[in-house]
Amino acid sequence: MSKQTKLKNFINGEFVSSASQFDDFDPTTGRVHARVHEADEAAVDRAVRAARAAMQGPWGRMSIAERSELLFKVADRINERFDEFLAAECLDTGKPWSLARHIDIPRGAANFKVFADIIRNVPTECFRMETPDGAGALNYGVRVPKGVIAVICPWNLPLLLMTWKVGPALACGNTVVVKPSEETPYTATLLGEVMNEVGVPPGVYNVVNGFGGDSTGEFLTRHPMIDAITFTGETITGTAIMKNAAVGVRDVSFELGGKNAGVVFADADFEAAGDGIARSTFANCGQVCLGTERVYVQRSLFDRFVEALAVRAKALKPGLPADAATGIGPMVSRQQRDKVLGYYQRAKALGANVVSGGGVPAMPDEYANGYWIEPTLWTGLPEDSPIIREEIFGPCAHLRPFDDEDEVIALANDTPYGLCTTVWTQGAARAHRVAEKIDVGITWVNCWFLRDLRTSFGGAKHSGIGREGGVHSLEFYTELRNVCLKL
Ligand code: NAD
Repeated sequence: MSKQTKLKNFINGEFVSSASQFDDFDPTTGRVHARVHEADEAAVDRAVRAARAAMQGPWGRMSIAERSELLFKVADRINERFDEFLAAECLDTGKPWSLARHIDIPRGAANFKVFADIIRNVPTECFRMETPDGAGALNYGVRVPKGVIAVICPWNLPLLLMTWKVGPALACGNTVVVKPSEETPYTATLLGEVMNEVGVPPGVYNVVNGFGGDSTGEFLTRHPMIDAITFTGETITGTAIMKNAAVGVRDVSFELGGKNAGVVFADADFEAAGDGIARSTFANCGQVCLGTERVYVQRSLFDRFVEALAVRAKALKPGLPADAATGIGPMVSRQQRDKVLGYYQRAKALGANVVSGGGVPAMPDEYANGYWIEPTLWTGLPEDSPIIREEIFGPCAHLRPFDDEDEVIALANDTPYGLCTTVWTQGAARAHRVAEKIDVGITWVNCWFLRDLRTSFGGAKHSGIGREGGVHSLEFYTELRNVCLKL
């Protein structure tokens, strides 16, 4: 499908056209690169019914070993078609190939392998009773698939975040209906081809394209035959989805927004901290839920650190995905770029000291309509400023000095979000103390975005509900039944 510019829905193993279509834009030029077929309510219904039939048919009858084998083949096939996935992902998002080559596409494949492996090695619990009435009775747990899972995805790491849910859902024996972001449907479509190529039965993996509220996303989440909903996106969208999930008491797993703090202590390795905070702020043009938008630096280092981070920001050359010299790509859409630019203007109006960036870089004529934006750093704003309270989701951060550990813990925790934090210190005892007190799902010490897929992933407070990753994913994607057997 490499040259295909029509992205159709994938229902019951077939690519299905629809009368209503919308544009998919290349963020580097602002030009349309594909037409996307939109799934209406009837198409969503067909996809959900196909997923239900596959559960009751070949997929439901397959052994764990057979299922796992197929998922390994999916991963292998993604790797065989690596360059196509890479080109598609970068066309949809504008992100540098260097990034997608090392993160998005390999993780897209790994998400199938890891869960295909885990599912073959999950122990089941068993308790032997000793009470007078139950002496000798055995209680054992049986995990069964939850059913048809709705998978709703964002645009920032399209393949990675989608397969992070599809991998474990399928490994556990469920079937899925995926709603990719309207901005980035390309790799979800390619994955449909891969499913057919390796022999995943029709109906196991379905894709419905379209928008969110009052559209495809909502048709899917309120469909009565959906058994559970897994969603990655904005907290406010999660709230809307939860209302639909409440009807029929469906389970949800939510990975939501963040306003993550980076904390740099005076005993940190200065260069490593500078590189790490720069990466966590500017990678993927700041469009990473785990990104750092608030930086707290111990006072003795502050001025030097601000300067060092500004040097790194200014060195990021905006450019095209395929260019090895590209340090930063465009944002995903005009709307997102304008939203972030709005924050840049507000920061200035609120009296921020703009240390670097703050606008749009000059680009050659051909790319002047792309969604470019400068990496930006500020100092000097009070903590109650919207720049420090609200998730911006752009390549920007505010820096502020702190004096001691208790103060910075309070600052880091003073947010409704609780996704992750990154702490830079060479003191092991301090690292443990601080990690325990910051109210987030993930703390990285002296690193960022270092992921072991066997570990839990998810947010505290407004940043999510539940944990996925490793065996934690099985908690969500299976129903645990207990059998009590009196001999
Ligand atoms: P979004 O919430 O706008 O959209 C996400 C998906 O939800 C899209 O597919 C959209 O079409 C769909 N949607 C929107 N409204 C819906 C509704 N009412 N019903 C059903 N579906 C609906 O998020 P986005 O702008 O695509 O992504 C950016 C956000 O995602 C940021 O807030 C970011 O922090 C968050 N995010 C979180 C994580 C995490 O792991 N915690 C990872 C990546 C992104």
